[in-house]
Amino acid sequence: MASRAVEGGAIAPAPRRYPPGVRPPSVDALARQIAGVGLPHPLLVDAARAAIAAGDPSSARAIAESAARALLRPVVNATGVLLHTNLGRAPLTPPRPGGEPALRWSNLELDLTSGRRGSRSRHAAALLARLTGAQGALIVNNGAAAVLLAVSALGAGRPVLVSRGELVEIGGGFRIPEVLACSGAHLVEVGTTNRTHLHDYRAALEAVDPALVLKVHQSNYKMVGFTSAVAVAELASLGPPVVVDLGSGLLDATTPWLDGGPPAWLAGEPAARQTLAAGAALVTFSGDKLLGGPQAGILAGRADLVERCARHPLARAMRPGALVLGCLQEVALAYLRRDADSIPFWRMATASLEALRARALALAVGDPVDCASVAGAGSLPGLQIPSAGVALDGDHTGPLRAFDPPVIARVANGRTIADLRTVDPADDKVLAAALASCT
Ligand SMILES: *Cc1c(COP(=O)(O)O)cnc(C)c1O
Repeated sequence: MASRAVEGGAIAPAPRRYPPGVRPPSVDALARQIAGVGLPHPLLVDAARAAIAAGDPSSARAIAESAARALLRPVVNATGVLLHTNLGRAPLTPPRPGGEPALRWSNLELDLTSGRRGSRSRHAAALLARLTGAQGALIVNNGAAAVLLAVSALGAGRPVLVSRGELVEIGGGFRIPEVLACSGAHLVEVGTTNRTHLHDYRAALEAVDPALVLKVHQSNYKMVGFTSAVAVAELASLGPPVVVDLGSGLLDATTPWLDGGPPAWLAGEPAARQTLAAGAALVTFSGDKLLGGPQAGILAGRADLVERCARHPLARAMRPGALVLGCLQEVALAYLRRDADSIPFWRMATASLEALRARALALAVGDPVDCASVAGAGSLPGLQIPSAGVALDGDHTGPLRAFDPPVIARVANGRTIADLRTVDPADDKVLAAALASCT
């Protein structure tokens, strides 16, 4: 609303509400009066103009404040959704105040040994290939880009087999049939919605000569009952390269970075390393789901296929910059060190219930309650992680969002629940103050 008002201000018609003879205040004077909002002057001018156009100069400050609130800023995630798409999915550790700047220049494409031009695939991508047991890897802007690039580079102009049970929409308009249409590949549907068998793929192979078989993780929906799908190892026996869109990006099903092994809530989630070992030629996954890194998409697998993807013109349009590659490299190094504690997603996902309960008590506001967190971002649908937090009677989510910093909580059964699993312990004091302001 507010940003529309400001945008509208720039092209607003002449003010109408001022009686004849009454001059509206000067835009510039009004903009200077609200300088305390802290926005750059041109944005204050926009707010002043919008307020004057609306016939209510006194609203200028509120318009400017809501424009300021629309800017990106840190929030406290008390929703219990670890990968909350509205909150930027995987939490990343912000650079320490007063610490080193995140990046100045870097050897992004410089080979420091030879002094010649290097490759963007030498750092984060090489480490992710190492982690997944792949011959090579390529990083693009997000998971959707990784899938589009893979089918464009490897399948354009040729048939691509996909099970009817995997023609999914992931959300945000990402629909497998449309992605295939975009890529120029010809979708060949195999099997039925609930059951697809190896012989369905074999029958398709007799009719067409596919560039690849695409297998897609169903992510945010689950089929139960009379269902069957074909495992990657069986698909690999068919002949054409098997490309698997894993989506959530669990690196290794044995979770060597976790002391206690894989937690129960990971049950059955396919992982990059095991999918490649089972015979997939290429896997794609997101950087900011279960990998716990920045928004990115990863393609990993056979060197020749990764190379074909890297040489496709779309790859240039999808390449991330040094900020993302630098972040992803840090995450990859943490996995290699088996240091889950420095990956905020895994640190939060595996915090013990006892520790969360103790923090809930220590907040000394609201009622300590047990609750359930979820992975989110379409990962692990229906699976819950036991958690703890505090509850307040009534719906306080509006005032909590208005708090500085904003606190995002949820409502269940008429109570506001703040789930501590997704809250950084360093934010407990802020959370307690926000909750106390509601009581
Ligand atoms: C999430 C997801 C995508 C899209 O990845 P983004 O990183 O959100 O672009 C594609 N495929 C599957 C199976 C997914 O789960």
